[in-house]
Amino acid sequence: MSSRSESLMKKPEIQKNVNLASLNSMGVEAVAGEFIEIRDHRELAALYENHFFSRYSPLVLGGGSNMLLIDNPLQPVIKISIPGVHFDKEPDSSDTVLMRAGAGENWHQLVHSAVELGYGGIENLALIPGTAGAAPIQNIGAYGVELEEVFVSLTALNTETGEFEIFEKDDCKFAYRDSVFKRELKGKRIITEIKLRLTTSAHRLETGYSALSNYLEEKGIKKPATRDIFDAVVSIRQSKLPDPKDIGNAGSFFKNPIVDSETYTRLLKENPGIPSYEMGGGERKIPAAWLIDQAGWKGKQVGNVGTFKNQALVLVNMGGATGREIYDHAMRIRDSVKSAFGVDLQPEVNIIGQSV
Ligand SMILES: Cc1cc2nc3c(=O)[nH]c(=O)nc-3n(C[C@H](O)[C@H](O)[C@H](O)COP(=O)(O)OP(=O)(O)OC[C@H]3O[C@@H](n4cnc5c(N)ncnc54)[C@H](O)[C@@H]3O)c2cc1C
Repeated sequence: MSSRSESLMKKPEIQKNVNLASLNSMGVEAVAGEFIEIRDHRELAALYENHFFSRYSPLVLGGGSNMLLIDNPLQPVIKISIPGVHFDKEPDSSDTVLMRAGAGENWHQLVHSAVELGYGGIENLALIPGTAGAAPIQNIGAYGVELEEVFVSLTALNTETGEFEIFEKDDCKFAYRDSVFKRELKGKRIITEIKLRLTTSAHRLETGYSALSNYLEEKGIKKPATRDIFDAVVSIRQSKLPDPKDIGNAGSFFKNPIVDSETYTRLLKENPGIPSYEMGGGERKIPAAWLIDQAGWKGKQVGNVGTFKNQALVLVNMGGATGREIYDHAMRIRDSVKSAFGVDLQPEVNIIGQSV
């Protein structure tokens, strides 16, 4: 990890009492007492110089598609809207290109731009909502591909020192829906830019997921291009997942639990049809959606909250749900899966609130 000081500064505007309902994909009502939109990394440097980060632990907001706001945030909210997309040639390779994106760029638009330009590596990650800057936080993944496979580095403000630091891939400690930014460095770094390595030719296409391979087969596509995979992923996701514009949700609410071989043997004995994926070292990943479905929650509504009818892992705001209601519903599901299967479900969504 290397670092450099930032001397240029730009004073950001501070807004008061901003409603966050349209800025979180769950669509829950919450008000930020202070709200600062950052469009330039120099605004972060100015906040640091004004001792902002020693006074507050702000809530950093990207697209708000992976968080549940339980209460009004007591701390200021910093929305990261830093723009900019660049494709840089690699000095030693004509087979790859480096994509640099400002943390506020819309992730799906980036994927679309890359596919349009004929670059490969992120087509399986189409239609994941949110920003480029949040993508490394949980090492976003879908349809057999995770961000870490194309990730080169990122730049982030260290809120304790005011330095803009470069994190190489190993520094990020990526794992399944996880990184150092969700653990040791939670709340201590603000990502301003990410850098990915994409292929210009000889793309390594990932079509192993059954939904994807079935789609391509049905369309008679034997030798898919990155564009075909992009189109397939968009189509599959649109048919399976609720669009947050229509029904508030934050995608998969829980992570798929990974169990050791002893637990798996017990689960298999008790539930002969249980699906699972080999993870190496005897560990197996169990689809949380299956557990929730079997526990009787798929399509069920309690008050203003429900589980989506086509995908039990997605909790939905049926209209007017508070963050607290959604959280309580999630905990009911977690408890019932625990008592039915003895398996702990961990939220994938970031729970934001003082009284959890
Ligand atoms: C319909 C739907 C489908 C989804 N499908 C998938 C999927 O297939 N795979 C997947 O992995 N995820 C999926 N997600 C979850 C979500 O889209 C991703 O996690 C996404 O990366 C979140 O981006 P965001 O900008 O909305 O982050 P936010 O929700 O704004 O923030 C998420 C976390 O990152 C922090 N954060 C945000 N930006 C920064 C920054 N610049 N610097 C430091 N911290 C920051 C926040 O404080 C928060 O803790 C889905 C969500 C929805 C609603």
